[in-house]
Amino acid sequence: MSIQEKITTLREELRGHNYNYYVLDEPTISDYEFDIKLKELQKLEEAHPEFHDPTSPTLRVGGEVTKNFETIQHEHRMYSLDNSYSKEDLEDWEKRIQRILGDVDVEFTCELKYDGASISLTYEDGLLVRAVTRGDGFQGDDVTTNIKTIKSVPLQLKGDYPPKFDIRGEIILTLDGFAQMNKERVEAGEDPYMNPRNTASGSLKLQDSALVAQRPLECLLYSIVGKNVDISTQFEVLEKARAWGFKVPTVAKLRKTTDEVMQFVEHWDEKRHNLPYETDGVVIKVNSLRHQEELGYTAKAPRWAMAYKFKAEQVSTVLNEITYQVGRTGAITPVANLEPVLLAGTTVKRASLHNADQIEKLDIREGDTVFVEKGGEIIPKIIAVDFTKRPADSTPTIYIQNCPECETPLVRKEGEAQHFCPNDTGCPTQITGRIQHFISRKAMDIEGLGGETVELLFKEGLIANYADLYVLTKEQIMPLERMAEKSAENLVNGVAASKSIPFERVLFALGIRYVGETVAKKLAKAYKNIDALMVASEEELVAVDEIGGRIAESVVQFFGNPDNVAIVDRLKAYGLQFSLSEEQLENQSEKLKGQTFVVSGVFESLGRTELKKLIEDNGGKVASSISSKTSFLVAGANMGPSKKTKAENLGVPIISEQDFLSKLD
Ligand code: AMP
Ligand code: ZN
Repeated sequence: MSIQEKITTLREELRGHNYNYYVLDEPTISDYEFDIKLKELQKLEEAHPEFHDPTSPTLRVGGEVTKNFETIQHEHRMYSLDNSYSKEDLEDWEKRIQRILGDVDVEFTCELKYDGASISLTYEDGLLVRAVTRGDGFQGDDVTTNIKTIKSVPLQLKGDYPPKFDIRGEIILTLDGFAQMNKERVEAGEDPYMNPRNTASGSLKLQDSALVAQRPLECLLYSIVGKNVDISTQFEVLEKARAWGFKVPTVAKLRKTTDEVMQFVEHWDEKRHNLPYETDGVVIKVNSLRHQEELGYTAKAPRWAMAYKFKAEQVSTVLNEITYQVGRTGAITPVANLEPVLLAGTTVKRASLHNADQIEKLDIREGDTVFVEKGGEIIPKIIAVDFTKRPADSTPTIYIQNCPECETPLVRKEGEAQHFCPNDTGCPTQITGRIQHFISRKAMDIEGLGGETVELLFKEGLIANYADLYVLTKEQIMPLERMAEKSAENLVNGVAASKSIPFERVLFALGIRYVGETVAKKLAKAYKNIDALMVASEEELVAVDEIGGRIAESVVQFFGNPDNVAIVDRLKAYGLQFSLSEEQLENQSEKLKGQTFVVSGVFESLGRTELKKLIEDNGGKVASSISSKTSFLVAGANMGPSKKTKAENLGVPIISEQDFLSKLD
């Protein structure tokens, strides 16, 4: 046998063993034998780099180091899921679906909701070319190098896969693997990790892929996206993915009625404790992909899928102390400090108490034994007091009246649940909180600067607001604790680099109350630059699509404060982006202003998402169902018959993709 043949044979053989072990969970040789063969291959490859193969099983051990994970735009957005908690919720959902689809039979695929970190894998000609985290759904981080070390992710597919597609799944840590990892950590004198989900998601962003390779991560797949993928149902998606070599749990089942779906849910609500990994619910999906197309998406989630959340687990423990946190907007959050207790696999020490009303309503007091529940959220919540265990000397909780950070008397506005510290320019936590928000990833994403450094810089009197960051010098920073020349330089460079962050993110970074990421995007698009936005009145603002009174009031108030205006002026002078770029402007127009479109069917030159974006970028509105207010129905191939009839009945013009595109010429 020639060297080349030897290498190829070993690779084939090891690939097969990986597949048997990690995908099928049915190893046919011992770990020891596997290691010997792997080492043999490694040696041969080292001696003969001319036979390099990017899909070789030896690459699974990692070693490549990623300094910065590149941000990648998702070709198809990664959505969240809507949640349901009861049979009634599911029935309502089914009714909504039937209303849109008309009188057709709808089947459902039921899958488990794996609790890990979502991932999108891109395959071209059967090879894994890219792996991207979900990020904010629109863009994520390129973590390909790390993902390649996860053995259940095929580097090379088998069977008749399409030439190019994305497949989505969840990166998880098995419970056994997690326990083993923690055991090793404790033995090595390190703190154990909190829970499998956070650890799995943290693993994806480790810089050293060799460390990732050592973690018992798995990738479970559940959805395929892409054009020219010849599949017609979700159930088939799962079967095909399995046939191409992906790990797809076989618990998924096809169900015809809500009753059958509920049986699946109830079965797994009980049996989930026997699964090798954590699940927090079931995901129910409309089986026909054509129906899925027709149902489309809301702003946040597909209409064709629904998560059914399992009821969270509960424990009781003693509440030792109530403390109060101050947020960046001055909002006060009471926190319950608990006697540590194990809940759903994690040790719980703190729980949110939300606000004064909540404490009063549940009559929560220090020293009480309370019931704690953990839903999907990271911070668990207290749902009730165990009054049978209340100590005899217990006294009602008196909510604080002054800010725990600056002593200012707290205020509570009419109709608001939260107490606030009104000292927004002088309360240290609010000041640093705002700066921390400003530099955060989704805002200015300033590299080389973290939350603790912000506190330090503030404490040392080097910054008093976020504009001050832009005049910091290396010389000022270097003398600080834990700062070396290199880190000071990184900080200054990171701040300078943030000057190219686009307008909508700068707007988000300013930290105007109620102006989150999505609202910032909407405002940026509507006003195009900060000068126009700064002079907008409440009436003008609420006229912008999806901007409500509360947001409008907050924006006007923010720019009505001369301190804020002065800071914005400084930021402008430092060169931050305060208007949409040429490119952003070029792709926008008002050509479709006042027109509402419904999009249905499959299109030739554009994806549905692209089509919808075009409509919105050009001032039009996209609606999901046809009404008398609809201006046009843009019809692609295989459009649902019920939509067509409805449009005809209401006299809504039906236009083709070409007709639509010509409106933009
Ligand atoms: P959420 O983040 O709670 O809105 O839930 C949406 C997430 O559930 C998706 O981003 C996926 O990462 C995850 N997920 C887990 N299992 C599944 C599944 N079987 N089908 C679809 N999504 C799933
Ligand atoms: Zn305060």
